[in-house]
Amino acid sequence: MNPKHEASRNEGNVDRISGVRIAYEATPQHGHPIEVAAGIYWIRLPLDSNLDHVNVYALRDHTGWTLVDAGCNSEKCQAALDAVFKVGPLAHLPITRIISTHYHPDHIGLAGKLVKKGAVLYATRVCWLNAKMLQLDDRHLPCHEQIQFVEQAGLKGMELEAYRRRAPSNYSQLVSPLPYSYIRIKQDDVLAIGDRNWTIHVGNGHAAEHATLWSNDGIAITGDQILAGTASNLSVHPSEPSADLVSEWLESCERFMHLSSEETFCLPGHNVPFRGLPTRCEQLLASQKMVLARLFETLDRPKTAVECLDTVYRRTLSTSERGALIAETVGFLNHLRNQGMVERELIGGNAFVWKQACRRARVEQKANIASAHDSHTNERQLRRSYEFE
Ligand SMILES: [Zn+2]
Repeated sequence: MNPKHEASRNEGNVDRISGVRIAYEATPQHGHPIEVAAGIYWIRLPLDSNLDHVNVYALRDHTGWTLVDAGCNSEKCQAALDAVFKVGPLAHLPITRIISTHYHPDHIGLAGKLVKKGAVLYATRVCWLNAKMLQLDDRHLPCHEQIQFVEQAGLKGMELEAYRRRAPSNYSQLVSPLPYSYIRIKQDDVLAIGDRNWTIHVGNGHAAEHATLWSNDGIAITGDQILAGTASNLSVHPSEPSADLVSEWLESCERFMHLSSEETFCLPGHNVPFRGLPTRCEQLLASQKMVLARLFETLDRPKTAVECLDTVYRRTLSTSERGALIAETVGFLNHLRNQGMVERELIGGNAFVWKQACRRARVEQKANIASAHDSHTNERQLRRSYEFE
């Protein structure tokens, strides 16, 4: 550990916002990893997006390093990762294994390049398939289904025209070419890395088949499935426009809440390591339920998804934020529809308007709302901000 960049431990500090115990006040500087547990190093790689950075973790094995996640395929990420392994405590051993928690480019972007240098890639099957599929999609304009998705969400006028002209994704640029084969990981697999055994627990909602790693000595690497300072983004993809990702995420969160203890040391994909995982899960569950309650209340009058943005996020959104959060708002609406609470109707052949479904649903939902308010939790404190990726 480089004393110059050593983080001050703050194990007992209770974060006034989230209520969890943030383990470190300082964050790793580029090129200077922090040893957060014996043989486990926290590395930060810079991103150009709103996210600012992604956390990756190096786990010491007997003959090399296992890297959990790898940053984007960008010069900045590559330079920062190279600096970590060039000098200092990680320099003496090679990276022999890369584990991708999920297929998002800030987590799997450099995996292909690391494999070319000798590492072996581990991933869930859906992570692998999604990454391979998205790498092939190099269209320069959105396809019909993508345009239809935002139109049906209620996007119109100048915003819709701007969307039509925008390149839909730069995934293939942000993710280096992946190898032909990989090692599949799945629920309940156990990986021996150094002196620890890590059990794989698969979550859903943020990304399909998102791998999390749980050690036999109380450490959990949670990627973007559970975060401290923000809620995981649950955006619906236009390729599966009716998906109920909220249900999938709620199921995972409840499962992880029971799997962990307040002393579990959580190493997330963004922000900072923390303890208090069951508390954090409980807060996030309450937060999502309050968003759903608020959304249901506003649908006493018919609205499009775009018209619900202010109700869901309760702040002024930038143009780029609106693009990302429309897809998440559709996800909340899909969930309410799956629960039988709201229904939708296509108006003018273009946009869905959503409204409360029936009196029985309203009565049931009001009971849920009352229960959420009774929890005395301040949703703004719980949710804090949103993640766009
Ligand atoms: Zn992600």
